[in-house]
Amino acid sequence: GIVVVGGGTGFIGSHLCSLLKSRKFDVKIISRMPGPQRMTWHDLQQTGLPAGTTAVVNVAGQNVLDPTRRWTPGFKQNVWNSRVKTTAALAKAIENAVQPPSVFVSISGVGIYKPSRTAEYSEDTHDLSDFDFLSKLCIEWEKAGNLSPTVNCRHVAVRSGVVLGRDGGMIKQLYLPFYLGLGGPVGSGTQYLPWIHVADIVRLITFAVETDGVKGVINGVAPQVITNKEFSDAFAKALWRPAIFPLPEMVLNLVFSEERAKMMTQGQKVLSKRTQALGFKFAYPDIHSACQDLVNRALKK
Ligand code: NDP
Repeated sequence: GIVVVGGGTGFIGSHLCSLLKSRKFDVKIISRMPGPQRMTWHDLQQTGLPAGTTAVVNVAGQNVLDPTRRWTPGFKQNVWNSRVKTTAALAKAIENAVQPPSVFVSISGVGIYKPSRTAEYSEDTHDLSDFDFLSKLCIEWEKAGNLSPTVNCRHVAVRSGVVLGRDGGMIKQLYLPFYLGLGGPVGSGTQYLPWIHVADIVRLITFAVETDGVKGVINGVAPQVITNKEFSDAFAKALWRPAIFPLPEMVLNLVFSEERAKMMTQGQKVLSKRTQALGFKFAYPDIHSACQDLVNRALKK
């Protein structure tokens, strides 16, 4: 069948599309830019989902941590709309489809859980409050994906931790400083760093697409819970470098403004209880195997 992937051109999206293709799905990307095997968000609004669509995934979203973009109200609006509006547009297209797909997987973030050094969160945590911009965004993002109960389609919301991959996200930014031996933890490094290898996040999304009965919230975080310092030690070690230069919180607050620097300066302890109970097996369950893979991949290039 056809899998429609909103944001399929991005870091997670491109890994996801390769995996789906290798599993013999026809993939159709929704992008702001027209092209072959693609449709635009405007096309979606005009013509709806392609006939024969069996699954829909949304991994679109303006990069929150783009250091070249100032954290202005306008940029925040882009960050918001590129997630909530695209998810809502796909939900609407599913509801309007003559033959609705059987599953809709939308990505969201662990930013829905309040940063804490003591609290432990899982999919069973239901008392979620909107304590800041990012948590509000995650709540509305997930809500936008909820389908009318009359539509016969599973909705799965994957709350992803920081995605580790050589070609995007956090590692893309950190590779050079760490390679030069200038890496280190953020601030004290004692904040938790919920994480997942890019191969696992796309395997998890594909698992949600292929496994009947998977619906509702699943956390996309590796089983091994680590702190920011444990991450920087593991990454530096895989590169045979020291990790002795802490990145002061103040610098991040200046570059990114505090509201979004929080994604790096604070963290939450998140467990993927349901994900594991559903039988998903992580290829990279611990940070050492994940970092080793990131470095090996870079060497092979
Ligand atoms: P990328 O920035 O690599 O890709 C996201 C895609 O979204 C782009 O390819 C782009 O597609 C589309 N996009 C960007 N801006 C807009 C916009 N203003 N309006 C509509 N579409 C837009 O992101 P990632 O792959 O890293 O992340 C994908 C999603 O997963 C995001 O929503 C992100 O918040 C979420 N996520 C990511 C994590 C990570 O660590 N990377 C962690 C947790 C969640 P095009 O240019 O073709 O339109």
